[in-house]
Amino acid sequence: MRGLMMDRPLMISHIIKYAEATFPDQEIVSRTAEGLLHRYTYRDAARRSRQLANVLRSLDVKMGDRIATVAWNTYRHFEIYYATSGIGAICHTINPRLPVDQFAYIINHAEDRYVFLDVTFVPLLEKLQGQLKGVEGYIVMTDAEHMPQTSLPNVYCYEELLQDQSDEFEWPEFDEYTASSLCYTSGTTGNPKGVLYSHRSTLLHAFSVLATPGLDLNEESAVLPVVPMFHVNAWGVPYFGPMVGAKIVFPGPKLDGESLATLINDEGVTEAWGVPTVWLGLLGYMRKTGQKFKALKRVLIGGSAAPGAMITEFERDYGVQAVQGWGMTEMSPVGTVSFLRPKDRSLPPEKQLEIKVKQGRALFGVEMKIVDENGNRLPHDGKAFGELLVRGPAITCGYYRNPEANTSAFDAEGWFRTGDVARIDPDGYMEIVDRTKDVIKSGGEWISSIDLENEAVGHPEIAEAAVIGVPHPKWGERPLLVVVREQGSNLDKQGVLDFLRGRIASWWMPDDVVFVDELPHSATGKLQKVKLREQFKDYKLPTVEEV
Ligand code: AMP
Repeated sequence: MRGLMMDRPLMISHIIKYAEATFPDQEIVSRTAEGLLHRYTYRDAARRSRQLANVLRSLDVKMGDRIATVAWNTYRHFEIYYATSGIGAICHTINPRLPVDQFAYIINHAEDRYVFLDVTFVPLLEKLQGQLKGVEGYIVMTDAEHMPQTSLPNVYCYEELLQDQSDEFEWPEFDEYTASSLCYTSGTTGNPKGVLYSHRSTLLHAFSVLATPGLDLNEESAVLPVVPMFHVNAWGVPYFGPMVGAKIVFPGPKLDGESLATLINDEGVTEAWGVPTVWLGLLGYMRKTGQKFKALKRVLIGGSAAPGAMITEFERDYGVQAVQGWGMTEMSPVGTVSFLRPKDRSLPPEKQLEIKVKQGRALFGVEMKIVDENGNRLPHDGKAFGELLVRGPAITCGYYRNPEANTSAFDAEGWFRTGDVARIDPDGYMEIVDRTKDVIKSGGEWISSIDLENEAVGHPEIAEAAVIGVPHPKWGERPLLVVVREQGSNLDKQGVLDFLRGRIASWWMPDDVVFVDELPHSATGKLQKVKLREQFKDYKLPTVEEV
């Protein structure tokens, strides 16, 4: 028997309609690409999204068409999210930091019809325009006053297009499984792969995030998504923020410590979401200037492992709760969040930290399993570790137009292979041990490069650390620790090893420590171990001589 409930689709346009009706005066503040501070309300955002929907219709954009954005986090980008998906087109956000050949590949592979771009990115698109044969027009996200001279063909000014359009628009309703947005994720090899979200998955993901115990987002929250809107929809902030009437503060192009600290304190930001690299910059600035946060209550750290030292510094020195999240582009992206359970709160601080550095418990709607090399399930006993697989309604069931990648991305039961190696304890607490490709195999046992890195960055004179496996005739592989020192530090190898001794198992001790000025990072701020391994491919460990 079917329930007697209305058959109403889950639509992204419902979010902006709801926010306009329920929180009309709540603010959205943006630092723009032109360098200005812009503020308006959900009422304004909803009105302008409708105008933009009329613009898109006038450009003959239809359901299923891909519309690219190359843009920072600003109110205009927010309007594009709602206008494109709202009419059934697909908002394809592109990471401008990608290598140019991948950038062009993505636009061509997606067959984007129009590109919305911030003024900052005009030179980039000018350089590539010859390769982008399918693009019919470029819309520069600015007003007439800031419109640059450009060689781009069929170029439009965003504000001029908008001003000619009515703000009356009835959002259409259609199947909730309709594609709404597209984000490419770059793996370690090959071309980036497209993850295609739907209206349904986007709303379910937003509900799940809001239901996460402890996140506590509401009308009194002011959320700063430092994580870019081109990186998995800024982890969903532009969707779940309006659902609860939170103030949204968009940082635009300025992501350095000083700019973020100013925005956080001037705008009364209570929650900020971003990757560890960004928080390193912010903490460095706060430390140097001796400032404190005025209203900041919580930072969400994700995208890479959150080092214990970073969590401690936020909490001890600033009274800001630091919470770790784990996820993937393929998962919309949030998979787990690491909040202490009520029973953990009576533990001593060092025991609490051991829990906080784990990746946490699954969101509602995310199922997890770990398997051995033959695909057999491993117990959730907090000890066994193996490849982590996931399934759920906001997790991809196949990359966009990429049958080749899809053959290896799922197991026989249709679970998605994350490529992460993890442990899960009996309470469902998950801990990433490593990437399958980064784990160091020494004498048949696995050493977690992430654990070693986390311990190393606990040293006050170590700014960043990376561990890679280097071939070893006796052990197969042994760990090499590559370190970036804090400015002015003279820390040497012995100093690092002395610090690590006692904190890690003795056989995990790196066989060597080398110092570099900087480590290679990907376009999304992740350590690029492939590049690092390439850099050290001829490196010989001193311990090899001893064999
Ligand atoms: P992306 O799709 O680019 O966001 O990358 C997803 C990958 O980032 C995951 O499979 C993990 O390897 C890594 N990752 C994300 N969050 C965390 C975290 N909190 N701790 C460790 N690794 C993480």
